[in-house]
Amino acid sequence: MEYLPVFLNLRDRLTLVVGAGAVAARKIDLLLKAQARVRVVAPTLNADVASLRDAGRIQYIAAPFAPEYFSDVAFAIAATDSTAVNQAVANAGAARGVFVNVVDETESSTAIMPAIVDRSPIVVAIGTSALSPTLARRLRAQLEAMLPERLSDLARWSGEVRERVSRALPDLNRRRRFWDQLFAGNIASAVLAGRRREADTMLDEQLRDAGGSGAVTGEVYLIGAGPGDPDLLTLRALQLLSQADVVLYDRLVSRAVLERVRRDAHCIDVGKQSGKHRVTQERIHALLLEHARAGKRVARLKGGDPFIFGRGGEEIDLLQQAGIPVFVVPGVTAALGAAAAACVPLTQRGVAPSVTLVTATGEGAAELNWPALAAASQTVVFYMGVAQLPRIVEHLRAHGAPADRPVAIVERASLPDQRVIAGSLGNIGELAQRSQVVAPALLIVGEVASRAAQTAQQLQTRLTTGVGKT
Ligand code: SAH
Repeated sequence: MEYLPVFLNLRDRLTLVVGAGAVAARKIDLLLKAQARVRVVAPTLNADVASLRDAGRIQYIAAPFAPEYFSDVAFAIAATDSTAVNQAVANAGAARGVFVNVVDETESSTAIMPAIVDRSPIVVAIGTSALSPTLARRLRAQLEAMLPERLSDLARWSGEVRERVSRALPDLNRRRRFWDQLFAGNIASAVLAGRRREADTMLDEQLRDAGGSGAVTGEVYLIGAGPGDPDLLTLRALQLLSQADVVLYDRLVSRAVLERVRRDAHCIDVGKQSGKHRVTQERIHALLLEHARAGKRVARLKGGDPFIFGRGGEEIDLLQQAGIPVFVVPGVTAALGAAAAACVPLTQRGVAPSVTLVTATGEGAAELNWPALAAASQTVVFYMGVAQLPRIVEHLRAHGAPADRPVAIVERASLPDQRVIAGSLGNIGELAQRSQVVAPALLIVGEVASRAAQTAQQLQTRLTTGVGKT
């Protein structure tokens, strides 16, 4: 992190703005909003600044900048169109240990003004470490769209009823849960819809219920983490990850996804291999029960989708039998992540009217219906260990699939270093070996896979030239 984000309390503190043009006027407005006192130094001033002066809202000094104007100043902004003057302001600030923002000039700035989404008292500040103000503005536009206008009301309202909630629910864990549920539920909706009285009545009712009930029961969220790129998480997955107390995650869950988990959540890696032993499914079951029974909100985070080759069914059975509430959040399964990565439509009119997802790991391969999988005019996606590839190809060929049937291997789909290897049943074994394919990877078989060749080439160029890498 290059810069530390902070919120300054400038109420009644003296601030300095050098310059009195349009840019300065916007900064003055901001400082006034933060209830600072503002001293403006500039030989001439525009109409906006003049009317602030006339209204007595600023102290205006009609003079060129001089370091003496820094006396008693807590924070300063240089907003003139002269680089020399701006630099002089920056130097004077540095000499006095005062943070100075030079507008649109990061080199000499010791403070950077973020892009702001203002739902006071909720304020979102966006910084790009000064690398791209345009990107910051784009993000601001997205957040503006995401955050309801009445968020301000909701924040104020919760501040007002906070005491009441704390008295009714002295236990911190229970209280936190109550607030989480409140913000996700119909009380918050009522406040956001401007129906305060209704919200107050519902709050009273819920506090009575919550205060009276016995032990807190935990719950489990069975969440699909997608193929790796955190932007492919669903909004619900994100919401639940930000409130889970305990997170049990698999080997396939990417680091970037784990970054989105609540900071102080207890994260347990249940995909870890110590020696040759992975945490057993029995142990995972025991952990789920233990934490849920202790009243925790447990997120069981699995790669892809929990119900596609994810043993989600077994965990659901266990929890339902134990009477623990469980919520399932779907994820983008690897086949879909890989199809997108390789730009291969898994079904296509007239070419592939159906798609089959198959797992070819472990002993299961022998039980598969190979004649059906080898048939033309469909797409088959094999979730597989890389070592199984030769066997899959052999079975398909033995059951009549031609050597020129297009195939694609997609390795680490959706991750920054994803690779696509395109070929045919006849040569894919050799290609895979030459490219040293690593896990996780899957195989797409069928006419549609012929499109992967172009993607493979583009990705390859990008990897070797670095173009488009993030
Ligand atoms: N529940 C998961 C699948 C678990 S099985 C899902 O819905 O995606 C594990 C297999 O999924 C791996 O052996 C590999 O074949 C495939 N896989 C998972 N993530 C992948 C990725 N990012 N790229 C390619 N294949 C992946």
